Amino acid sequence: MTPLLKINQLKKYYPIYKGVFKRKTGDVQALREVDLTLYPQETVAIVGESGCGKSTLAQCVIRLIEPTSGSVTFLGREIAHEPKEALLPLRREIQMVFQDPFSSLNPRKRIKDILVEPLLYHKVCQTEEEALKLAKETLAEVGLNEGALNRFPHQFSGGQQQRIAIGRAIILKPKLIILDEAVSSLDVSVQAQILNLLASLQERYRLSYLFITHDLQVVEQFADRVFVLYLGKVMESGPTKELFSKPRHPYTEALLSAAPKEYPTEKRERILLKGDLPSPIDPPPGCPFHTRCPYAQEICKEPPPHKSDGPQDWFCILDLTKKKDISNL
Ligand code: SF4
Repeated sequence: MTPLLKINQLKKYYPIYKGVFKRKTGDVQALREVDLTLYPQETVAIVGESGCGKSTLAQCVIRLIEPTSGSVTFLGREIAHEPKEALLPLRREIQMVFQDPFSSLNPRKRIKDILVEPLLYHKVCQTEEEALKLAKETLAEVGLNEGALNRFPHQFSGGQQQRIAIGRAIILKPKLIILDEAVSSLDVSVQAQILNLLASLQERYRLSYLFITHDLQVVEQFADRVFVLYLGKVMESGPTKELFSKPRHPYTEALLSAAPKEYPTEKRERILLKGDLPSPIDPPPGCPFHTRCPYAQEICKEPPPHKSDGPQDWFCILDLTKKKDISNL
């Protein structure tokens, strides 16, 4: 199957300038050679600690920020470095839903305008009347009635605001929606309702989701595949069930061990990582995880990074599903 979205060797560095002459002294290496594919009607989750590059990746895809290098192909077209004006026809195909629905909705606009304006701007509808009809239908699809049209965002609860933000995203009938921590600020019960809504919309409109989150419980329920990011690099990726039941990479193992358990009686030993997350200005050479990895060896410190014959983004000398590897070191 042809991927809907293909990311190749994507890099985002933020230069650091110092002194009177603003001399460049280094870079914050937010994303380092990331590869990722997303297929039609698939949900791919990007997980990792704060500062691992998850949101930077999403923003590079939607071109809210400019990638330093690498490629992003969407619907077979390279979009990472094209002028933004040339991408206008593609803009409606990729939409984004943010963590805080209130700050993502213009507080001075009525819901009617929030929904109608993109329809007229992208010429999905030719008249305001036609756009208003579609806005009413969309509100019904996200579980709100047409009485919402004349109200302002602050007149809704957080869950309702997120429904409006989802409505604004789906009204243009996109192929891809980037969900950037889209359910993280909601109560657990509201979170479940929003996830159910997203699942049913995905089925109805054959949507693909790029799901950025730090919540592994949600990922386990919702995503088809997972990419684990650490210091701007993919450490491991794979089908959700496989990755959760048998993590192959020490970082994935540690991340899963720290996640709240679905059943409190479930036994999973917590792996405490030593030290802090290294600075992305000066990431460790060799394996980026070697300063905190419980299995680290001398060889792990050596550049170039060690790759086994596993998947392309595999990044470890070990495979934890074959624990004997460890004793052989
Ligand atoms: Fe740990 Fe070495 Fe594997 Fe890195 S390469 S995750 S330091 S064992």
